[in-house]
Amino acid sequence: MRFQQHLDDAMAAATPLLGRGRVADYIPALAAVDAEAFGMAIATVDGEVCEVGDAGRAFSIQSISKLFSLVLTLALGGDAIWERVGREPSGSPFNSLVQLETENGIPRNPFINAGAIVVTDRLHSLTGDAGTAVADFLRAETGNTLLDTDPAVAVSEAGHGHRNSALAHFLASYGNLENPVATVLSNYYAHCAIAASCRDLALAGRFLARHGVLADGSRLLTRSEAKRVNAVLLTCGTYDAAGQFAYRVGLPGKSGVGGGILTIVPGHGALCVWSPGLDAAGNSVAGVAALDAFTTSTGLSVF
Ligand code: GLN
Repeated sequence: MRFQQHLDDAMAAATPLLGRGRVADYIPALAAVDAEAFGMAIATVDGEVCEVGDAGRAFSIQSISKLFSLVLTLALGGDAIWERVGREPSGSPFNSLVQLETENGIPRNPFINAGAIVVTDRLHSLTGDAGTAVADFLRAETGNTLLDTDPAVAVSEAGHGHRNSALAHFLASYGNLENPVATVLSNYYAHCAIAASCRDLALAGRFLARHGVLADGSRLLTRSEAKRVNAVLLTCGTYDAAGQFAYRVGLPGKSGVGGGILTIVPGHGALCVWSPGLDAAGNSVAGVAALDAFTTSTGLSVF
């Protein structure tokens, strides 16, 4: 349990910030969450799990799911996805439309909404059901058979999804969707609305700390692909705050508007934090502070 004290200290550092920021309410079903909740868990490469606070409580993973849809798409379809989506930070909000027009319908990266919608489209073609593919993967890596989409959140988001609809239609107008817009969006909402805990997500992300090797010892990604996914996480995983996140935390990471952030400590483990209050870029205020404290006290970062 070499990380327990560091997790306890990280929670103590973040506690004064609980309730700060804004809970995402553009998806009405997310607004009901406990704004003061906080959890953190690390799953190490050698099988240890340490946790603190509400680490076992399920929350809406939202954009963290974009990491899993990307790695499944790479595993099943290889590099072809990079002809349809870029790998540069956008410097724009996660739901921005503006670059799509100036850049001919090719989203800047797979972690902003436009890019994730393209990845979901490709994964849907590869598997026949992108939403289920992500949930199946998470169940397999965590051993949590109850892990699934929260249908109330998916319905709530679909009912208020004008921006994502606009992005998807815009992509379709450039010929960058293979499936009907409604199919792609319902699969995108299905994986964003998966409910999982910090513990689950740390277990599910651990293969990236193991350079692509899954819980059962099989390989999902080559070592080189795992390195590349971690690089895109570092540069694009926290949207237009990716520079600030690298500065403070120094780890590849993916955030979601549910307040979760999953980070990878290559060679050591996957570390997930959750607290619902968000900053202006959509990243958890207490979560970033806790990760900052953890990487400072352990000295573990990619830098
Ligand atoms: N499902 C959310 C959306 O499309 C995901 C956004 C996020 O977590 N940043 O708006």
